[in-house]
Amino acid sequence: MRKILFAVLMVSMVAGLVFAGGQGESGDSGPQFVTIGTGGVTGVYYPTGGAISRMVNAKSEEYGIRASVESTGGSVFNINAVLNGDLEFGIAQSDRQYQAVNGMAEWEGNPQSDLRAVFSIHPESITLIASVDSGIESVSDLEGMRVNIGNPGSGQLQNSLDVLSAFGMTEDDIQAEQVGAVEAPSLLQDGRIDAFFYTVGHPNGNITEATSGRIRVRIVDIVGSGVDELLARLPYYAEATIPASFYPQAANESDATTIGVKATLVTSANVPDDVVYAITKEVFENFDEFKSLHPAYAVLTPENMLQGMSAPIHPGAVRYYEEAGLIDLINPDLLP
Ligand code: GLU
Repeated sequence: MRKILFAVLMVSMVAGLVFAGGQGESGDSGPQFVTIGTGGVTGVYYPTGGAISRMVNAKSEEYGIRASVESTGGSVFNINAVLNGDLEFGIAQSDRQYQAVNGMAEWEGNPQSDLRAVFSIHPESITLIASVDSGIESVSDLEGMRVNIGNPGSGQLQNSLDVLSAFGMTEDDIQAEQVGAVEAPSLLQDGRIDAFFYTVGHPNGNITEATSGRIRVRIVDIVGSGVDELLARLPYYAEATIPASFYPQAANESDATTIGVKATLVTSANVPDDVVYAITKEVFENFDEFKSLHPAYAVLTPENMLQGMSAPIHPGAVRYYEEAGLIDLINPDLLP
């Protein structure tokens, strides 16, 4: 019995060491594996995780880091997975980062002090897509309709609820579905839902898929006095437009007007500085190449990638921003 116990203890100690090696500073014990949580495969987070890992993996010899990407339920899932140590990095909407840090929405009364920001990425628009046949031309037309408001764990779930509230509605006023964004285009094209919300960068494969089928669809404007009130009340929302030219098969004749947030890269205070430093450095030093990896990055500048964060900046990222002379572009409240 004692022998068995000893063996079990040894095995778990070795496993513990290997695990610690994976989480700790890179050394001679092989590469450090880091995983970036993204979103559904047809969104922009998934290729964004790929773009970031490509940058750092190109220097894996130098840094001893191997990055990989995981498709997940989105922002809220990613923030929670980073905080509990299941993922080293996650992509998350700027509004969700703000809510986690300040104890709001899914984190109501439970501020997440270990969350750290690395940089901001592309703008994301709250996108409402509806079949033309449904007659939905404004948010108020959603009443009684079958609408996907987003899966639990997604960023868009709270955005959909905010938009409904701006029109005096709740999810009880619609037939709300909560499925992943990746399934929404086919549900719309099969006539099983009338509309869906997706907070996402443009252009993207999901909306192209939704607009390319037999059923004609339109991108619905999200505008009105309730939206103006939302913009005034919640600091993380900004006006946004979705160019009609991105989706030539949609019924829109002009650009759609809506509100939006930003995608950001987050991590935990427990992730080692050298790992965060490496990722930050490779993305910024290869900025032009990074920017060429997705059309949703067209508007990126090094300056706007340092805006829109609300968690403290991870010290590994701070080290790079200091070295690169970018530190003055960051809100000093977020610096150590
Ligand atoms: N904004 C979405 C979310 O947080 C994901 C969008 C994407 O995958 O590009 O869930």
